[in-house]
Order: sequence, then structure tokens, then C-alpha cells
Amino acid sequence: MNKNVGKIRSLLKGKNLDGILLYKPENRRYASGFTGSTGYVLITETDTKFITDFRYIEQATVQCKGFEIIEIGNTKTITDVLNESTLLKLGVEEDFMTYGQSIEFTDKLADTDIIPLEGAILKLRSVKTPNEIKNIEKAADISDEALEHILGFIKPGLVELDIALELEFFMRKRGAERLSFDSIVASGTRSSLPHGVASDKIVEIGDIITLDFGCVYNGYCSDMTRTVVLGRADDRQKEIYDIVLRAQKTALEAVRPGITGAELDSIARNIIDDSGYGQYFGHGLGHGVGLEVHELPRINAHGDVPMEPGMVITIEPGIYIPNFGGVRIEDLVLVTEDGYRVLSKSTKSLIENLRYNMNIQV
Ligand code: ZN
Ligand code: ZN
Repeated sequence: MNKNVGKIRSLLKGKNLDGILLYKPENRRYASGFTGSTGYVLITETDTKFITDFRYIEQATVQCKGFEIIEIGNTKTITDVLNESTLLKLGVEEDFMTYGQSIEFTDKLADTDIIPLEGAILKLRSVKTPNEIKNIEKAADISDEALEHILGFIKPGLVELDIALELEFFMRKRGAERLSFDSIVASGTRSSLPHGVASDKIVEIGDIITLDFGCVYNGYCSDMTRTVVLGRADDRQKEIYDIVLRAQKTALEAVRPGITGAELDSIARNIIDDSGYGQYFGHGLGHGVGLEVHELPRINAHGDVPMEPGMVITIEPGIYIPNFGGVRIEDLVLVTEDGYRVLSKSTKSLIENLRYNMNIQV
């Protein structure tokens, strides 16, 4: 049986529910191990049911250890199964339910109170088990190797999309099942776009290039950003890089159990503010990472949850100046009993003189 079922059962008791129904894909996977795209998990005090249609019965039988597999489709619907279970209070994922489902449940589950789970499963997911951490670490290792590889690949004349494609190809050859998100390769003045996904812009000498990417291993994501310069950095690029690096390192060194995401955010933000660039750091400091690349805990001004050992977060301050460019440095970080451990191991020193120009004059 999946260990997370025990955690979900504690939640069931804590919230005084008879059953919890999960259908958000990551929550479904968290509870049951099922990797397919359709199905419901129903957990009650005594039962664990996986409810899906004909296409996924065989897969669910293999993946959902300890679950009773129930087929729905032609003759039976999800509300039939729920009615058979005679549940008085059913917890549902209100943020992931369609309006149609809501109407159907209200109409057909006459004897059941539908209770919103208010993100309770997302909160459970924010503290990782050792096994989940291993998967995230493996995804981070693949990303580190990919950065090393791509630094030898980047050269003037390539377009950003060539670089993104090479990153993806490399990571997938190393065992990644997919990307955590569309890779951000933002060069020159485009680097002022915090989420500038790779375009057909040609990279040129003197360009600052933001590389923000990650991959998925066994369902778990990595996420890392490094900013490099093709050729030599000019004084302003160096100045901005140094401020971002100082903000990043100072916030990182403050990571420990008990500190909140808002406190971490303000540590980095104060440094950037004091350097006169506060208006150019418009996003939060980071986010949790796991089955989703953006998940709890919040690492921004709204992050009032104290860090706990086992949380995996990013620390990623940036400065983005329109028509000039931007710098972001992002690490993937595990909160430990006595502080933190950085999972993204690539160097954070400013990388100039990429390998291509070792033999040529810049
Ligand atoms: Zn990122
Ligand atoms: Zn991130």
C-alpha cells in the first residue's frame, strides 16, 4: 500500500469526513501511484478504491497496489460508485472540479454533503518522503549535467530554440521522462522577460543568456536557472549579476525549519531594494517543487507557512531591466533538520567565455 494513503486517512479523521475523492492528476498519483490520465481515487476509513474506465483497468491493476479497481463507463458512473459507498461527508478538490461535475454531484449525491478539501492534499504534498526526495535529486542531477553540456554547445549564430531543443534532447537521453516546463532561453534584451521561453532570436557575442529549465524523473520535477554571458560581461551586467548573486546566497543561507517563505522573500528583496533595483524584481522569491514544478509551500510575500524538514523549494531572485536585460539565479533546495541542502549543484559564479571562444578572440 502506498504510504501516502495513511497520511490521507489522518486527514480524513482530522476533517471528520467519511471519504476523500481525488482526481487532480498529481494528487491521484500521490495517493495511488497511477500515472494515467483518467481516474478517481476514493479513500475511506476502511477502503481504497481506484475508479476508472476500460482503457486504464490493466494499468491501474499494476500501479495501484492495495486498491480495489472499479470500472466505470457504459453502465456505471462515478456517482453510482459514490452512492454505493454511502458517504455522508465527502471531501472533494473544489479547485479542480468542473462546473459540470459540481452540478452532477449535487444532483445525484442526494444523501452526501460535498465538502471542499481546501488544498489539504497540496499541503500534505509539500513535505516530501525520502523516496520523493531521491527522485527530485535525480531530476536535479540530470539538469546539472545538461547545463554543463549546453555551455559547450552555445555559440554565436544559434537561435534560442536550438539551445532549448538540445537541452531537452540531452535530458531525455539521460532518463528524464519530459521537461518540467517549456525551457526558458532568453538572450540579450529578451533576458528582461522573466518567463521568456525560447524564441527564434539568434544569440550573439555580448548577450546575457538566462537558462531556466528542469526535467521530470519518476514524476518529480527539477527547476534551476543560471545566467551566462556569451563573450565577456560588461560592467553593468557584472554589477547586476553580483547583486542577484548576493541576494540569492543570503536568502539561501537563511533557509532552515521555522522560517517562513515571506521572511525568505524579504531577505532577498531587501538586498535588491538597497542596491536601487527593487522595482526590477517583480516576482516572488521562489516556490515549492515536487510532482508539480510550482506547488506549496509559497515562497513569496504571502508565504506564512514555516519551513519544515522535507520541503523542497526554489530560491530565485532576479533583476529585469527592460531594453537592457536580466539576471536570475535559481537553486533547488531541500529543507533539512538543521538548515538546507542545495540539490542543484552547478556553479553560480558568473560564467563568461563559454568554451566555444577558448580558441578565438572575443
Ligand atoms: Zn525555474
Ligand atoms: Zn522556479
